[in-house]
Formats: sequence, structure tokens, C-alpha cells
Amino acid sequence: MQPTTLEPDRSPRASSSSLAITGHCLCGAVTITVAGKHDPRVGACHCRMCQRWSGGLFLCFTADASAVTIEGETKRYRSSPFAERAFCPRCGSHLWFNDVEETGEPHSYELMPGLFDAARGWPLRSEIYVDRAMACVQLRGDHRRKSRAEYEAENPFLEGDIE
Ligand SMILES: [Zn+2]
Ligand SMILES: [Zn+2]
Repeated sequence: MQPTTLEPDRSPRASSSSLAITGHCLCGAVTITVAGKHDPRVGACHCRMCQRWSGGLFLCFTADASAVTIEGETKRYRSSPFAERAFCPRCGSHLWFNDVEETGEPHSYELMPGLFDAARGWPLRSEIYVDRAMACVQLRGDHRRKSRAEYEAENPFLEGDIE
């Protein structure tokens, strides 16, 4: 083994990783490579929009846009004035959620962890809209939890969840 030099951690997150990982949709038409900064922890959202989109529970992890390469055709749905959700037009697999930037390109992606084999062992980072969770979905652990009211108070640009 090579001796390793210990670099100071300049990342703003408690946990980040720069190992390259690759994922793909169910049919294989879309491949996503993350070669750069990403947070190897999963966030969960129980808002009604995410429940309708995902079928129950929305899971994601954050990657810097500069680290993400997407190959294959994708479709995007503008789910709110500030956000888009992308999917494979062939098999329907969900690919990512991201904020729509005024300047064009997004700064980061909230990628679906299920596309990536490497993400199967990642821990849960946080859970939001916990008071809207479906009765059958209970996530164990001591991760951060926020209710709809707590999350929307911290993110005033949100126009509220759908009913
Ligand atoms: Zn596909
Ligand atoms: Zn949501």
C-alpha cells in the first residue's frame, strides 16, 4: 500500500466521498456516473408530492453537479416552480430531483440511491415530512427527523405540499 497523506476536510458536509460510482435505470438505457463529491448518505421525504412520484417513499443522495455524468435519453417533469424530477422515458425509473437554477445548469443533483449498487449499504441521513408518512412506512434509527411545519419554516420558498 502507498503511504497516504491526510488532507484537511474542506467539505461543508459531515460526510462526503469522491470515489467514482456508477448506476443505471431498470432497462439500462440511462447510466449515471458520479465521479467527484457526493454525500454517501440517504435522505428520505414523505411529502405528498414525493409519495405520488415514488409510489410511497422518496429516497435520494446529494452529488455536486460537476461530479455527475448522465448518458442516455432522459425526461424531466417540472413538479414545482423551483424543481424538476427526471425519469427514463423507456422504463420509467426515477433518476433524480433537482432545483431549477435561474442560470440554467443545476448546482447539485438529488440522485435515486437504488440506481447505484454502491449505495446499498449507505446509512439514512435524515427524514422530512415525517408527519405525512404513510402508516406502513416507519424508518428506524436516530437520524434527524423534521415534520412538515418544521421543514417549511426553514425553507420559506416552498409553497407547501399538495393535499
Ligand atoms: Zn430505463
Ligand atoms: Zn418530498
